[in-house]
This record gives sequence, structure tokens and C-alpha cells, in this order.
Amino acid sequence: MLLVEAAGALELTCQRCLEALRLPVDVCTELELATSQEAIDAADDDVDRVLATRSMPIAELVEDEVILALPMVPMHARCNAAAHRGRAARPSPFAGLAGMFSDRAKR
Ligand SMILES: [Zn+2]
Repeated sequence: MLLVEAAGALELTCQRCLEALRLPVDVCTELELATSQEAIDAADDDVDRVLATRSMPIAELVEDEVILALPMVPMHARCNAAAHRGRAARPSPFAGLAGMFSDRAKR
């Protein structure tokens, strides 16, 4: 087994407000070392396996595990964008559609 551990924080961009987002990361994953790609392909369980070689790209394995731990869309848990949106109260571009449909019905 290979135990991959990584802890720290990543500087990302919140995808809602586009401000900086500091995301703590704490990864701990066990990877089973496989002797061949066939053994990995044939395995019928949910154990994570990597192909064991004499020189393994450990940094890449750690990077992969950190990337897997990231949220699909990084956002602040309490994002300011939602508050700004509420205050602006811009009308929806589709707000007029309801009126157009009701006008057409009257004709
Ligand atoms: Zn945000």
C-alpha cells in the first residue's frame, strides 16, 4: 500500500463572486500497489490502485489526490455575491415574458 497524505490550503477563485477563496485541504488516501495494468483493470472492487514501478511519480499521485478532493465548483460557504444580488434586485430578462403571453391570450 501507498499512503498519500497532504494537508494545507489552496488559493482558489470563488466561482460565484470571483473573489479569492482559501480552501483548506486535508487528504489521506491509501493506494494499493498493483503489479500490472491488467491486475488494475481486472479488479472488481472500489479499492484505489496504482501501477507499481521502480520510479513512481509520487508528486503526481499526491497532486491527483488533491485534485480529486477539490469541489467541482469552488465557492465561499457564505458568499457575498448572494447578498449583492439581493440588494441590486435587477429584473430578470425573462420577467416580461409572462406579460407578453397574457397580452397575446387577450387578442
Ligand atoms: Zn464568493
